[in-house]
Amino acid sequence: MGQRCIFYIVSEILVGSDIQIPPMDRLCLDFLNSEWGDFRGRWREDRLLQPAWLEEFLERWNLRMADPVSPAIVDALVELRTLMRRIVGTLPAGNPSSDDLNALNAILLNAPSIRRLVWGGEKFELEMVPLARDWRWVMAEIAASFADLLAKHDSKRLKICENPNCRWIFYDESKSRTRRWCTNNKCANLWKVRRFRARKKILNESSPATS
Ligand SMILES: [Zn+2]
Repeated sequence: MGQRCIFYIVSEILVGSDIQIPPMDRLCLDFLNSEWGDFRGRWREDRLLQPAWLEEFLERWNLRMADPVSPAIVDALVELRTLMRRIVGTLPAGNPSSDDLNALNAILLNAPSIRRLVWGGEKFELEMVPLARDWRWVMAEIAASFADLLAKHDSKRLKICENPNCRWIFYDESKSRTRRWCTNNKCANLWKVRRFRARKKILNESSPATS
């Protein structure tokens, strides 16, 4: 998990929040934010292109399997992330495109699973077992985490940070549902400083100093 992601979760714990999403639904947030940038726009980085990060991602979300990664798989993962980001972008209007939904559903359909009843020692559990643990299953799990977040929680709380340099995707867990930036100390502060400077410039231009 990236330092920023840890910061975000820790800060949410520190400030307290009323609406929380289960850890497995955070899988899609981790994936969505694999492409990220410095809040001041100094650099951008795509961690899906880094084999070590991808390996850690699979480990972190119990998605390890035997199939090796290939350039075609990386392309498919990037395409999935682009699709999911596009859907997030439509959430404020509440009108996702049917083509995007069909594309996401095709990924979910691509990895069928079966139900299995198991005895957990104290109680029964109903497990969903994939027919094959391969990259199609990994992508279906990522898509399922995203679909679960949209279907079981308030989809309008899923937001893109309004700092154009950043564009970090977060689930707004605040009571007021009015959060606009991923972090208060970076993106929100940067925006406030820029707004202050812009207003000051307008004031200076509209009332030039008299000599
Ligand atoms: Zn941000």
